[in-house]
Amino acid sequence: MKVLVPVKRVIDYNVKVRVKADQSGVDLANVKMSMNPFDEICVEEAVRLKEKGKATEVIAVSIGPQQASETIRTALAMGADRGILVKTDAEVEPLAVAKILKAICDIEKPQLVITGKQAIDDDSNQTGQMLASLLGWAQGTFAHKLELGDSTAQIEREIDGGLQTVEVKLPAVMTVDLRLNEPRYASLPNIMKAKKKPIDEKSPADYGVDIAPKLKVLKVSEPPKRQAGVKVKTVAELLDKLKNEAGVI
Ligand code: AMP
Repeated sequence: MKVLVPVKRVIDYNVKVRVKADQSGVDLANVKMSMNPFDEICVEEAVRLKEKGKATEVIAVSIGPQQASETIRTALAMGADRGILVKTDAEVEPLAVAKILKAICDIEKPQLVITGKQAIDDDSNQTGQMLASLLGWAQGTFAHKLELGDSTAQIEREIDGGLQTVEVKLPAVMTVDLRLNEPRYASLPNIMKAKKKPIDEKSPADYGVDIAPKLKVLKVSEPPKRQAGVKVKTVAELLDKLKNEAGVI
């Protein structure tokens, strides 16, 4: 069974994001980029399936600039077998990403695609769902636990206030939530080995996908600055402030 894992190169989650002065987007100059944290969880889950003998091959795919090959190398160092870089310097919206992934699925025929629930740069939370729809496959979103059978998978999903377990027919798309697993760090020998693993280079046109944007970002702005807090001396003073100043009780 092949498992396909899309991995996106995004601003590292530790970086304090700066909005450009003209509010057209965020500043990417000299900013550390890394694999989307949810996608590390995807790679970990796929590699665990391989280690358990349930998956035969793990393919990491990234759509982005040349540097996205580093993101694929990270996935290869974690244990993925090969990579596909769909190279473009343009911003690619979730629908176009989903169309490219669909074309790759048509060729590679994986039984399972594991995507992150969202990319932390655009917070779209759309790609996995759109891909499942384009393929006509089942989807299990926000996965917390996966039990993979021969022709079905049980996916425990994180929902408001609890968990829901669904059974999906394979092939399927699963999107992962934070608590599915704890991704491993790649060891030095595995980082060295990953250098020899193959990465195929393609373009969106190779898959016949038009990546022209359908959305226009009008404005990006920073959240309002947090106001400084005040220290109170007594519970009575706190209650008074909550009641008469904040108006929350
Ligand atoms: P989004 O719908 O943009 O929030 O992204 C959800 C998931 O789709 C990500 O966690 C990735 O697994 C996948 N994905 C989105 N964009 C890309 C991309 N450019 N390259 C590879 N995978 C992507």
